[in-house]
Amino acid sequence: MSESAMTQSKAATTVELLDVVVIGGGAAGVGVSVALRHAGIENFVVLDRGTVGSSFASWPAETRFITPSFPTNSIGMLDLNSIAIGVSPAFSLEVEHPTGEEYASHLRGVAQFFELPVREQTDVLRVTKVGDHFRVDTAEGTLQAKHVIWAAGEFHYPRLNGFQGSELCRHTATVGSYEELEGDEFIVIGGYESGVDAAYHLACHDKAVKLFDKGSPWQDESSDPSIVLSTYSLERMREEWFEEQVELFPNTPIASVSQIDDGYEVKALDGRWFRTSTPPLLAGGFEGSHKLVANLFEQRDDGFPVLSEHDESTSTSGLFLCGPAVRHENHVFCFIYKYRQRFAVVAKAIATSLGLPAEELENYRKWGMYLDDLSCCGEECVC
Ligand SMILES: Cc1cc2nc3c(=O)[nH]c(=O)nc-3n(C[C@H](O)[C@H](O)[C@H](O)COP(=O)(O)OP(=O)(O)OC[C@H]3O[C@@H](n4cnc5c(N)ncnc54)[C@H](O)[C@@H]3O)c2cc1C
Repeated sequence: MSESAMTQSKAATTVELLDVVVIGGGAAGVGVSVALRHAGIENFVVLDRGTVGSSFASWPAETRFITPSFPTNSIGMLDLNSIAIGVSPAFSLEVEHPTGEEYASHLRGVAQFFELPVREQTDVLRVTKVGDHFRVDTAEGTLQAKHVIWAAGEFHYPRLNGFQGSELCRHTATVGSYEELEGDEFIVIGGYESGVDAAYHLACHDKAVKLFDKGSPWQDESSDPSIVLSTYSLERMREEWFEEQVELFPNTPIASVSQIDDGYEVKALDGRWFRTSTPPLLAGGFEGSHKLVANLFEQRDDGFPVLSEHDESTSTSGLFLCGPAVRHENHVFCFIYKYRQRFAVVAKAIATSLGLPAEELENYRKWGMYLDDLSCCGEECVC
């Protein structure tokens, strides 16, 4: 075969046309794929640069779910951390607050049970729309698809900037285990869930911790854990050793971190400075993977993608977003029990575009898994 014929035949074998490509095999990618199955969609794949649940498997060893799992399914209320009807991490794992590793194994079990067409170790490099179809370039080859669901999450894309010298800090997403960190004193920058989690585990090991936040998440008042600290973390902060070992610095934005002879100097915007021998831990959240496909979405003022009522891009039809970056007005879908309610909405929109009735998705409504009326959200608790 001539060289050009070989190139053509290679190109012909690497490009396949699928109805849907799901990018990311985390909680969102697996959950929405189960909904695609229930919608009668067969011709799809789930791509993951690692393995199913690899973000969860990379959490610090001690970190646990803040949202509790309980086997409530038997009375028609889905386990808070479940991503599919009939599934309960509490039941399968027999733990209330799973570790990341435990939840990753649960996700792998769900993917196997529903026989999802997962392709692991497939890093998506680029998504482009050419005519009516998407071109998905991966390190392993190119796929073509009529629809793309972006579910690549946040964990692989930590926020590493924000102040001068932030690159000298260690993001909590890179910590394998708090127990293994060397040193007796730590500075943690960021006092929301991950920062309190880091401080809690360090305090458990008798480390002295200074915890800084530009606001005061542990004092703010709201019943929405997307805005304030969860009950689980507030309870942890009341432990005797937490109060003894952790010094809180609310309303103290950090201006810079610099390296000095025997460690690091952390300067606050109010002029105070602090020294530590260990690299400051950065718990400043995540940039999010949606930045990779920002050109395919319109942007809200806060940088999150503008979405249609079906979580579809308003500028690139056929491209959907699933997971914690979903925002509608002031509704933040950053927890599993929130964003899972949009899986069926996305699956229904794609099924409709493919001419499939997707009647089975109606069952999602009675399980609180089909939220297409957002006027219900935002009610504050009164007591
Ligand atoms: C420390 C921590 C604790 C949390 N605790 C809770 C909790 O208690 N309850 C709760 O509801 N939520 C919690 N969250 C939020 C929760 O983890 C996220 O909601 C969840 O991980 C998001 O799921 P996802 O599928 O969108 O992303 P991920 O779980 O991150 O999955 C994304 C997948 O996409 C893959 N990927 C990324 N980029 C690419 C690419 N370019 N090509 C191919 N594949 C790619 C990754 O390998 C990964 O497997 C927590 C988050 C963190 C960081």
